[in-house]
Amino acid sequence: MIESTHRPSQVIIDLSAIEYNVKQELSRLNKEQSLFAVVKANAYGHGAVEVAKVCEKAGATGFCVSNLDEALELRQAGLNLPILVLSYVSPNYIDVAISQTISLTAPSLEWLKEAENYLTQTALTNPLSIHLKIDTGMGRIGLRDETDIALAKELIVLSTRLKLDGMFTHFSCADTKDTSYFELQQQRFTRAMDIFSDIEIPYIHTSNSATALWHDAWCSNVIRLGDALYGLNPSGKTLELPYELKSALSLTTELIHVKQVSAGEKIGYGATYTTEKDEWIGTLPIGYADGLIRKFQGYHVIIDGQYAEIVGRVCMDQCMIRLSKRYAVGTPVTIFGKNGELENTLDDAAEFIGTINYEIICGLTDRLPRYYL
Ligand code: PLP
Repeated sequence: MIESTHRPSQVIIDLSAIEYNVKQELSRLNKEQSLFAVVKANAYGHGAVEVAKVCEKAGATGFCVSNLDEALELRQAGLNLPILVLSYVSPNYIDVAISQTISLTAPSLEWLKEAENYLTQTALTNPLSIHLKIDTGMGRIGLRDETDIALAKELIVLSTRLKLDGMFTHFSCADTKDTSYFELQQQRFTRAMDIFSDIEIPYIHTSNSATALWHDAWCSNVIRLGDALYGLNPSGKTLELPYELKSALSLTTELIHVKQVSAGEKIGYGATYTTEKDEWIGTLPIGYADGLIRKFQGYHVIIDGQYAEIVGRVCMDQCMIRLSKRYAVGTPVTIFGKNGELENTLDDAAEFIGTINYEIICGLTDRLPRYYL
C-alpha cells in the first residue's frame, strides 16, 4: 500500500515519549536486567526503524520482532543490537539468520531436530543463536511436555551448531486481577528451568509489559517491553499503571468538506444517520482503509477542543462528523490524542469498539504517513 502524503491524515509519533517510557522502565530494573524493545508489527504501527533507534538511544540493549523480515528491516537500517525473532521461522532460513546475527526462537523439539539437520548439511561455520520457548500455558508455540524439554536439552548440549542464548515463556494473564493462571505458568516455567539448572543460559525472560509492570519482571534478566514502550497500559483500564507512561501516538486529520444539511436528511452508506435538525456536517479524509473501522460510527473525534460525533457509516476513505457550527475546510481534527483540554485515549477508543489498544494501533495501515516529533 502506498503512503498517502497528499492528503491531511497522518499518524504523529512523539519519539520523546517512547524515550521517556524506556527510561522509566529501565530505572526500575536492577543492574543484572536489561530491556529488549518489542518492535514487531512495525513497532505496533509506530514505525520499526525510528522506534528501534530511539529505544537504543534510551538504553535498550536488543530488539524483539515477530518474523525474519522484520529483523532484516532493522539490520538493513544499520541497527546492530541483538535481535530475537519471537515467532516461528522455518529452519530453511537459518543461513539468513546466521549471516545477519539474528537469534531465532526454538518453538518445538521437531524444529530443533530440523535445525540441527539443516546445520549439519551446510558449510556454515558460525552457530545459530537460539532462545528456547517454553509453552507454560499460552498454547501458542513452545515446548510443553517435560520429556520434550529434557530431550531438547540433550540435543542442544550435544550440538556444536546450536548456541542456547536464551530460554523464555510468555504469560497470557499477567494483566488481570486474578493471578491464579499467571501463578500456574510460573510453576511450569520454574520446572522447565530446573531441567536446565546445570547449564549457563545468558538470557532468561518471561516479561512482557504486564509482567514487568505488575509482577516485578518475574524471573527475567531481560524484559520484552512492547505496549508500555508506546506509553500504553497493557491491561486497558483493568489495572492501574504503577508509574506514569506517555502515550506516543496521535492520529490527526482535517476537515476537507463542510456543509449544512437540513433536518431529516440521511448521511453515509445505508442511510443510517438522520439529521435531527439543520446540522453542520464535516467530511474527513480517513476511513476503514486507514484502520478507522466501521465500528467507530457513533464515536467522537475532537475539533477545536470539542467532541464531534462520527455520524453515518465510516466509508473506506472518508467519514462524516457532526459539527457544532460551521468550521472552515482545513480545520484540524484529532481522532486519537489530545486537542485542547480533551483527549481521545487509545483505551477510550478500544473500549468503544470492544477491542484492546494493541489492535487499534496495529490496525493503522501503511496508507497513513508517520511523522515524528
Ligand atoms: N513477548 C512476546 C512473546 C510477545 O508475543 C509479545 C507481544 O505480543 C511481547 C513480548 C510484548 O508484549 P507487550 O506488548 O504486552 O509488552
